[in-house]
Amino acid sequence: TESLFGQVEAFAGDPILSLNDSFKADPRDRKVNLSIGVYTDEHGRIPVLGSVRAAYERIGFAERPYLPMEGHALYRDGVQKLVFGASHPALSDKRIATIQTIGGTGAVGIAADFLAKHTPGRTVLVSDPTWENHHGLFQRAGFKTATYPYWDRASRSVDFDGMVKALDAAEAGSIVVLQPVCHNPTGVDLDEAQQAAVTDLLVAKGHIVVFDMAYQGFGTSLEADAAFVRRYAARASCLVANSFSKNFSLYGERCGGLSVVCRDRDEAERVLGQLKLAVRRSYSSPPMTGGLLVGTVLGNDDLRAQWTREVETMRNRMDAMRKLLAEEIRKLSNEVDIGFLLNQRGMFSFTGLTEQQVTALRERDGVYLVGSGRMCVAGLNEANVPTVAKSFVDVSQG
Ligand code: PLP
Repeated sequence: TESLFGQVEAFAGDPILSLNDSFKADPRDRKVNLSIGVYTDEHGRIPVLGSVRAAYERIGFAERPYLPMEGHALYRDGVQKLVFGASHPALSDKRIATIQTIGGTGAVGIAADFLAKHTPGRTVLVSDPTWENHHGLFQRAGFKTATYPYWDRASRSVDFDGMVKALDAAEAGSIVVLQPVCHNPTGVDLDEAQQAAVTDLLVAKGHIVVFDMAYQGFGTSLEADAAFVRRYAARASCLVANSFSKNFSLYGERCGGLSVVCRDRDEAERVLGQLKLAVRRSYSSPPMTGGLLVGTVLGNDDLRAQWTREVETMRNRMDAMRKLLAEEIRKLSNEVDIGFLLNQRGMFSFTGLTEQQVTALRERDGVYLVGSGRMCVAGLNEANVPTVAKSFVDVSQG
């Protein structure tokens, strides 16, 4: 008899996640994993933050009722203050609708579902390149996606002119996804003047901005990294997805938030209702343990201060590894460019290596980068930097 699912196509898998599987299967001792976007400490381990452990001990395990569709109140309050700053005018006006989401992915997904219902049929523009799931999540919601230029290969920095031209040429009222800090995969961000110029343009065109902030605190500081979002939100309505996966080192707990900045309080209440409906139709309500962990840390002055220092420790380690790699490369060669390593920020560095060079690094030296040339600097440590530097120089010099 014919099988019901005989025609189902195989899923190619996520290229980054399958690379991680190949890494695990690689028998070589000196292999180095710089592919997956996870922060690991100097021993290659995903840290358990002291602030989070303290929150966990405080919470213990008690009854597990459903959380409301919008999530835990303490958590939502924490998201608003962290993303917008406690004294932001939109917060005091009570015109931000915030929900707890299933990670940053869930936040972008609910944003896409919400926009598909309330502002349908618009084009969605994402940066070229970007986190691939931006295309997938908006397409799943029924949108067509297109790109705006972002990366300039020659200068290994932002193609600002290209970006501005494309956003200006797009139909008024398009949906524009922006990563405000620590851009994945390039590691290059707009500077303050560029942020201001883009803000003017986006507001003038009436574009709908979806900020996707997955790395708050990994650039300069928790506060400074949110500056673009905060200034934009003081000018115009926008949506802000944020993730706690990296800055809380809580990948598997799926903690994120979605905030919609509205014109006034009444609009925000109605928008919150629609976000709750979108959640109800999707997964009904968010999970409790992650909600309690993050809510407890953000809602307690001492724990939040401790967490802020722990984020700084992670950021400083990544900055130190960038510098160390640049120095080691310089020791081996004066020809190979290292400026990009120091200019880029956050967890990723776009190396400019070609797919063939990335393959050579992996096959010859066991150094794993993503095919696009993206390197996760959090995978570097003092022990493996010399290996990586040597491979990088060898492959760059052909
Ligand atoms: N958005 C961007 C730009 C990311 O880089 C990531 C994670 O890699 C996410 C969203 C997803 O975050 P989460 O793991 O919290 O779903």
